[in-house]
Amino acid sequence: MKILVINAGSSSLKYQLMESDNGEVFAKGLCERIGIDGSRLKHEKIGQDSVVIEVPMPTHSEAIAAVIEALTDADHGVINSLEEIEAVGHRVVHGGEKFAASAIIDDDVKAAIRDCFPLAPLHNPPNMTGIEACEKAMPGVPMVAVFDTAFHQTMPDYAYMYALPYEYYEKHAVRRYGFHGTSHKFVSDQAAELIGKPKDELKIITLHLGNGSSISAVDQGRCVDTTMGLTPLAGVPMGTRCGDIDPAIVKFLADSEDLTVAEIDNIMNKQSGMLGVSGVSSDFRDLGAAKDEGNKRAELALNMFMYQCRKVVGSYVAAMGGVDAIVFTAGVGENDKGVREGICDGLEFIGIEIDQDKNRNLERGKPTNVAKDSSKVAVLVIPTDEELVIAMDTAELAKNK
Ligand code: AMP
Repeated sequence: MKILVINAGSSSLKYQLMESDNGEVFAKGLCERIGIDGSRLKHEKIGQDSVVIEVPMPTHSEAIAAVIEALTDADHGVINSLEEIEAVGHRVVHGGEKFAASAIIDDDVKAAIRDCFPLAPLHNPPNMTGIEACEKAMPGVPMVAVFDTAFHQTMPDYAYMYALPYEYYEKHAVRRYGFHGTSHKFVSDQAAELIGKPKDELKIITLHLGNGSSISAVDQGRCVDTTMGLTPLAGVPMGTRCGDIDPAIVKFLADSEDLTVAEIDNIMNKQSGMLGVSGVSSDFRDLGAAKDEGNKRAELALNMFMYQCRKVVGSYVAAMGGVDAIVFTAGVGENDKGVREGICDGLEFIGIEIDQDKNRNLERGKPTNVAKDSSKVAVLVIPTDEELVIAMDTAELAKNK
């Protein structure tokens, strides 16, 4: 089926038109500066140079109109008319406790997504705006919501609850949700295929390491724990996010630096992590280069990242009572061989043995086992494809509508 995948942010909208059966991408692009002066659309017909189209986009409706125009354009378009789009898949960041799977969008689903606005105030409102703009532009076309949180809904209560007064869970749904769910699901399924065993016989730890990073424990195809929490700020340190810290630091900094809670939240999200520690960059390529030039803080940031990831891997082996495979994915996980080696270093005692040669000479974009032949645990590098998961889920639900 031809599926349009939409990922709407507050002032941006990413899209991809693809065939769900084989993952072929026909065109993709990005609308930027929606609601701001100078809005533009960068569109790429696969196999051609991308084009930049400057067009006013006061709201997401104009952005969707521009996307449709680009997709049907005589020169850089890929379809003759809108009717060729059989369904639209929307990435929705937070599905709360209501969604353990993707869902066909109707009034009830929209109400439930709205109920999750307080849990993801920066993400769910623009996701909804994107849905409504598409509904207006393509009436009658099935729309599907694919949630970042859904895959993690199988976690047991003792893993997702915080040790806060229980009433905050009842009143405000304060608990661990987890994110990057489509990616964790995709690469754990792929891992089972690569190993050649049914997923219900496998214990897998998936490391989605990118600008944002999260690690999940997947036992028999079901997520049983994950590092991100109520929000994507929790877990291992990230590009600009601090990850887990002593919660008392918030009050300590509020008092000692005379900052508001909102200011500290902003610092913890945007000025911390690799950037905050190194003072160099949030990008692992820059950190690696700075470390090679002798920058001690860049080296410290990298060591902190690898240490915390290694600790999580060890704890998830304990959580599942074993592990058959660990999977590296996303920008850092797929590309940074040094980080992969650093995380595995010292985990030989649980049967994780990375092969330096295989790890350093791997073919980019190809799922690969980089473990030594003697390793009890498979060490896999698998490119993630969140758009493909969205397209496949969307096709599945739209077919049965
Ligand atoms: P993502 O959020 O998955 O798009 O990952 C983006 C991050 O991946 C960037 O910020 C970089 O830190 C990292 N990255 C991308 N390419 C490389 C590379 N070749 N080596 C190391 N890190 C990389």
